[in-house]
Amino acid sequence: MHVYKNFINGAWVESVAEKTVPNINPANTDDVIGHVKLSTREETRAAVDAAAAAFKMWRSTPAPTRGKIVARAARLMEDHKEELSQLLTREEGKTLAESRGELQRSINVADFCAGESRRMNGETIPSELPLNFAYTVKQPIGVVACITPWNFPVAIPVWKIAPALVAGNTVVFKPASNTPGTAVRIVEIFEEAGIPKGVLNLILGSGSTVGDEILSHPAVRAVSFTGSNEVGIRLYEQVSRRGCKAQCEMGGKNPVVVLADADMDLAAESTAQGAFGSTGQRCTATSRVIVEESVADEFVERLRKKAEAMILGDGSKPGVHMGPSVDESQFKTVLHYINAGKEDGAKLVCGGGQPEGEEFAKGFFVQPTIFDHVKPDMRIAREEIFGPVLSVLRVKDFEQAMEYANDCEYGLSSSIFSNDANYIYRFIDEIETGMTHVNSPTTGGEAHIPFGGIKATGIGEREQGSTALDFYTEIKVVYVDYTGRKREGNLY
Ligand code: NAP
Repeated sequence: MHVYKNFINGAWVESVAEKTVPNINPANTDDVIGHVKLSTREETRAAVDAAAAAFKMWRSTPAPTRGKIVARAARLMEDHKEELSQLLTREEGKTLAESRGELQRSINVADFCAGESRRMNGETIPSELPLNFAYTVKQPIGVVACITPWNFPVAIPVWKIAPALVAGNTVVFKPASNTPGTAVRIVEIFEEAGIPKGVLNLILGSGSTVGDEILSHPAVRAVSFTGSNEVGIRLYEQVSRRGCKAQCEMGGKNPVVVLADADMDLAAESTAQGAFGSTGQRCTATSRVIVEESVADEFVERLRKKAEAMILGDGSKPGVHMGPSVDESQFKTVLHYINAGKEDGAKLVCGGGQPEGEEFAKGFFVQPTIFDHVKPDMRIAREEIFGPVLSVLRVKDFEQAMEYANDCEYGLSSSIFSNDANYIYRFIDEIETGMTHVNSPTTGGEAHIPFGGIKATGIGEREQGSTALDFYTEIKVVYVDYTGRKREGNLY
């Protein structure tokens, strides 16, 4: 039995905990990849203490030297790209092509952050006073906790750990309990890249014990969290009470608006890709499509054909377009929402349950599912499902489309399909999301461009891009008076 270990103060140590949970391949539940021990509070404190002890040394290591380690980690990820992609697919279920894409994103982010290590610039600011020099410097915060979800188990940890390290913080990394294998490999890669002991620590275990202990530990000065809204909001309340910084990237219910003049095939293709890619388990997945009534029948018919052409299966097999849900709990949630759609009176267009066949018997597979004539107050129009379920809402015009699109607690991503510049720019102006796309899917983002949402999706600074280091640094303002004597006159 393979048991994953914690990485504390530069050493791989097995938890003393007795309770373990299996790491299961969601495409084939007979395939047990390893076992996670649910670490104790004491072990969690040891991980935080190790990070706290290493901080002084790491903060005084020059930023470009820190960046070199991150750059070496990027090269190692490149060398191990195929092995990591295979493990990611086996553990999380997405297709190999999607896993390779995630690995490339992680490499790009690490490269970008390594470059930023040479650009941790402050500002020089002209003073109101003569013989006075004012400037700012960016400084690290201390121990940063990175708490991550299972849906991008390589990219999200890398896009938190890399900027945290480059900025001079030490890190305690707590990954999702159902993707421990990739978490261990990421830390092994940083270890091989030369990260000094204590600077990066991995602690495996439950959110309620390990997560809670991290949040309560006074040495943890900042928490970067990605996950559900339910956990994120509680986490924010808990840490902000003791003055700890928090950055929470949470759920989405991302809309696509399709206007009557749109290229229908492009709109249908992109919507299907956004809704069913990664089995709908992207925070930026398309969940609602709001379409003008005059073209709705044609659009839905095209969408149905795209959905029905998708090949479901084990993501490691060639030709498969869509893998399973990540685990039994997520699988049941998706089936629950399909049921809710039926109960609330939406019209099922295709899918609607588990696929039939021997090859699906041991996995958490759900068919790509489309509901038409969905009303804005139905559960499938309002709540995050995180599975391959798409709701079609019909509207009379652009105004109503905007009303429906913004009638949502979340605000992560969105998209419009149209060729009318006036409507496109009004959409960009009025849509309440942190990211938006024109004539392309709601999913996707680039390593050097800020990423994140508004409303119930996001709290705190944006991740990645020009804003990547903002959360992980504090600005110190410096005034240097070089008069050499007491100043005269009115000073404030
Ligand atoms: P989750 O259940 O909220 O878990 C996220 C992380 O928080 C896991 O490591 C989890 O540990 C931990 N956690 C749970 N309870 C905790 C507690 N009380 N204290 C501290 N940590 C705790 O989310 P998920 O199911 O893994 O991920 C899916 C969600 O992530 C979706 O809502 C999706 O939209 C969101 N997401 C958002 C973005 C974005 O950028 N906006 C990106 C990707 C995903 P355990 O695994 O041990 O429970």
